[in-house]
Amino acid sequence: MNVLKQAIREKGTVLSSGVLKVDQFLNHQVDTTLMSQIGEEFARLFQDQQVTKVITIESSGIAPSFMCAHVLEVPLIFARKKKSVTMNQDNVYSSKVYSFTKKEYSEVTVSKDLIQQGDRVLLVDDFLANGEAASGLAKIVEQAGATVVGIGIVIEKSFQDGRAKLEQAGIRVESLARIASLENETVEFLDEVVT
Ligand code: 5GP
Repeated sequence: MNVLKQAIREKGTVLSSGVLKVDQFLNHQVDTTLMSQIGEEFARLFQDQQVTKVITIESSGIAPSFMCAHVLEVPLIFARKKKSVTMNQDNVYSSKVYSFTKKEYSEVTVSKDLIQQGDRVLLVDDFLANGEAASGLAKIVEQAGATVVGIGIVIEKSFQDGRAKLEQAGIRVESLARIASLENETVEFLDEVVT
C-alpha cells in the first residue's frame, strides 16, 4: 500500500535493526485519513469472507481495526491486557501473550458474551513480528468455537517469523506493508529488495 509505505518512509524511525517507531501516525498520534484508507483496504481484501466481527488487542490495534470494522459494518472487539472490575473474570476467554515491545507476558482476555460459535472473525493488528499477539487472538476465537477468517496486519516485519507461524496454523495473512530489513537505520520493503 503506497500511502502507508510513504508514511513509514517519511515519518517512521528505525530504533534498532528489530524495531520501527511509528508514533507519528499509528502508535501514539493517529493519522485518521491513513487509518480510513487502511480500513478500506482490509475490508476489500476480506470482502468475500462473510466477516461477522473484527478483533484486535488494545491499544495500538484499535485505530486500524476500528476503520476496518466500520467499513465492513460489523462490531470491533478489542481484547484487554489488564483486568477490569467491570469484567467478570469467570466469564472470559483468555490467552497468555508475550509482548515483543514490553518484553513481558500478559493475560489477554475477551468476555464470553462477545464471541459466539458460528462467528467469522477477522483479526487485525498494527505490527506482525513473531506472531505472539496474533496467535493469542486466534486462540481466543477458537476457544469460542468461532472461525478465524484471516489476519490483517498494517506493518509486517518479514524478517521475523510471525507470518510463517500463522500460515503454518492455516491462517491467511494480509499485510499492507512488508519490511524486509531495518538494518543500517534504513527501512527496506520486501517488494523493493534489489537482488
Ligand atoms: P508479535 O506478537 O507478532 O511478536 O509482535 C506484534 C506486537 O508487538 C504488535 O501488537 C505491536 O504492538 C508490537 N510490535 C512488534 N514489533 C514492533 C515494532 O517494530 N514497532 C512497534 N511500534 N511495535 C511493534
